[in-house]
Amino acid sequence: LPRILSGMQPTSDSLHLGNYLGALVNWVKLQDDFDAFYFVADLHALTVPTDPAVLRHRTRVTAAQFLAGGVDPERSAVFCQSHVTEHAELGWVMNCLTAFGEASRMTQFKDKTAKGQNANVGLFTYPMLMAADILMYDAAYVPVGEDQRQHLEITRDLAERFNTRFGEALVVPEPYIVKGAAKIMDLQDPTSKMSKTGSSPKGLIDLMEDPAKIAKNIRSAVTDTDAEVRYDPETKAGVSNLLVIHSILSGTPVEEVAASFAGRGYGDLKKEVAEVVVESLTPFQQRMTELLADPAELDRILATGADRAREVASTTMARVRDRVGLLPSV
Ligand code: ATP
Ligand code: MG
Repeated sequence: LPRILSGMQPTSDSLHLGNYLGALVNWVKLQDDFDAFYFVADLHALTVPTDPAVLRHRTRVTAAQFLAGGVDPERSAVFCQSHVTEHAELGWVMNCLTAFGEASRMTQFKDKTAKGQNANVGLFTYPMLMAADILMYDAAYVPVGEDQRQHLEITRDLAERFNTRFGEALVVPEPYIVKGAAKIMDLQDPTSKMSKTGSSPKGLIDLMEDPAKIAKNIRSAVTDTDAEVRYDPETKAGVSNLLVIHSILSGTPVEEVAASFAGRGYGDLKKEVAEVVVESLTPFQQRMTELLADPAELDRILATGADRAREVASTTMARVRDRVGLLPSV
């Protein structure tokens, strides 16, 4: 099977609905057709200053959420980025291949700093570490959300640059566009994506939130002043976002969902979206309770996943070190 790789950052106490609908549900499906490597991007999370105990907790929760969402550790490698130390090493090599101006053009850095996230150099070099994550595993495909498209582009550029300069050694990955994969928007600011670090608590749907609170957030979602339920992301971003959420979770085409609200108002739409979300998240939350009750088992799964990942990573790094001219340690 061709290899596929993807990760999520443990940057909050829970993943949100954007992570779930934009990534996790697709990860689960991809396991059928790919040799999947899924990791908790704990090194990336260090770009956000966090209390160590909190980071440890969030890392376990994120891994558990992969499993609760349906990732099968018997089939897919589930691991922590930091357990495979080659990530940081290849990240350094990627930094040294990247022009300063090129890194400066990355929109995630610009967006996050514009939103007031205090920037460290780690946030600036994030795309190069992400390139290392991907190139490490000779991944043929990377299922990236719309928000990560530019980072995949620089990954491809870096792989090609490496191969041109040092001889073919890295697989140039293709984006894997999952049909129907959505970008879920912030409920309070529907022109920005829902984000762990960028959204306010009212702007996101936390996968672990209790049903009443979820319904409340959806009820107070920003919409618009005309009253027609219609899918039009350009002029009706808030309403369209709710329709997309409903559509994916109910497995109904978005136009059909919109049509079912003909002659009804935003209140009805919000009520039904809340029902659909809560119904989907209830079994997920139950599995989370079971998984978190046994942290030793979770750590064991992560250790097994890291062993599998390390097998590939050590081979890639040996090749890279040789190509760039680092002396072997004998
Ligand atoms: P952060 O704010 O820390 O960057 P995030 O919410 O963007 O957090 P990531 O861990 O960066 O989450 O991304 C994990 C996965 O979720 C990626 O595949 C990303 O493309 C996807 N993703 C993140 N936000 C959304 C969203 N709003 N809609 C759809 N997919 C999303
Ligand atoms: Mg992100």
